[in-house]
Amino acid sequence: MIPFSPPRIDDRTIKAVEEALRSGWITTGPRTKEFEKRLAAYCGVPKVIALNSWTNACELVLRWFGIGPGDEVILPAYTYCATANIVMHVGAKPVLVDVRDDFTIDPEAVRKAMSPRTKCIMPVDIGGLPADIDAIVAIAEEAHATFRAANSEQRTLGRPLVLSDAAHSFGAFIAGKPVGAQADITGFSFHAVKNLTTAEGGALAFNLPESFDAEALYKLFNTMSLHGQSKDALAKTQPGAWRYDVAQPGWKCNMTDLQAAIGLVELDRYDNDTIPRRKAISARYNAAFKNDPRFVAPLLKDADRESSYHLYMLRITNAREEQRDAIITAIAKQEVSVNVHFIPLPMLSFYSGQGYRIGDYPNTFLNYSREISLPVYYDLTDAQVDEVIAAVKAAVGEVMS
Ligand SMILES: *Cc1c(COP(=O)(O)O)cnc(C)c1O
Repeated sequence: MIPFSPPRIDDRTIKAVEEALRSGWITTGPRTKEFEKRLAAYCGVPKVIALNSWTNACELVLRWFGIGPGDEVILPAYTYCATANIVMHVGAKPVLVDVRDDFTIDPEAVRKAMSPRTKCIMPVDIGGLPADIDAIVAIAEEAHATFRAANSEQRTLGRPLVLSDAAHSFGAFIAGKPVGAQADITGFSFHAVKNLTTAEGGALAFNLPESFDAEALYKLFNTMSLHGQSKDALAKTQPGAWRYDVAQPGWKCNMTDLQAAIGLVELDRYDNDTIPRRKAISARYNAAFKNDPRFVAPLLKDADRESSYHLYMLRITNAREEQRDAIITAIAKQEVSVNVHFIPLPMLSFYSGQGYRIGDYPNTFLNYSREISLPVYYDLTDAQVDEVIAAVKAAVGEVMS
């Protein structure tokens, strides 16, 4: 059986975790701090904080910006549930919009969805291909005049926050620059299936205007992620430094040094090993599918964007949803694991129960109903890629003829 996306775990990863364990420091500590510095340098931003997931990291952002009941957050209908769930957690309303043919949020649809209640826009870099972030930032800036600030953070920014869901796109490029330095705040995921993993984990890259102090924000998010405690465990190890305060009841979502130990190894070999292999696998799929009219190969690169090659989101030309499902069953019979990214939010029972209708998002439905994500992972060999291609072509031949 060819799996879909097992993590890359080798002796180097195991040794790094063992060293962290033997160091005696297993919670947030020197390895997490080092990982954050290296991530910030990679993204070209002043500060990055590493936390325990994309979800908790980005939920902290919504809470920091004071988003809650009565507020609206614009996001694509085509995304993983986490993007919308965090908006529900803070009591605000997810305003869903449609996507373009390349799966990313449609800036025109965002423009139409803007209202005086809009406090945040969350584009999603689906599959690793960056959304049109320049257009989204421009739309947020146009909203200066109508923005109703409710607290000092909102007054300082003076417009809706752009929080990028870059769960898939660490290492992708926009106009020659790594993802992280375009949105106000960019959220990464280091979940086990993502390009760069810490088993579970996430990070925020801060790129707010200079009216915000990046160092102070970093400290504040550390406090928010640790019960609101004014000192973390590392600071308390200084002799006599036992006393602390809690000025706000915070949350608990810090990264451990065991996770950061994995992340440091992953980061070390990301550009020279992980990405090149993923890119080569995608190129091999492209060679098989791009010129075959039965398929629509995913966009991975254009004039100003390059994917992180996280997913290979193949589409089957003119397939209906049931045909796509039958193709997946036929592929599975050939011992190949594939996936669908994602079931659109309006098709999940919770969100349909909230009144969202898939009929309002025609591109989302079309993209979803024809989509099959193929295996992409470091240890996948060229021979296995060829097996996947053969399995997909046979299945499509069987179902679509
Ligand atoms: C994985 C994923 C998330 C959530 O990441 P976690 O680190 O698991 O919280 C959010 N958005 C998208 C698009 C994802 O694929």
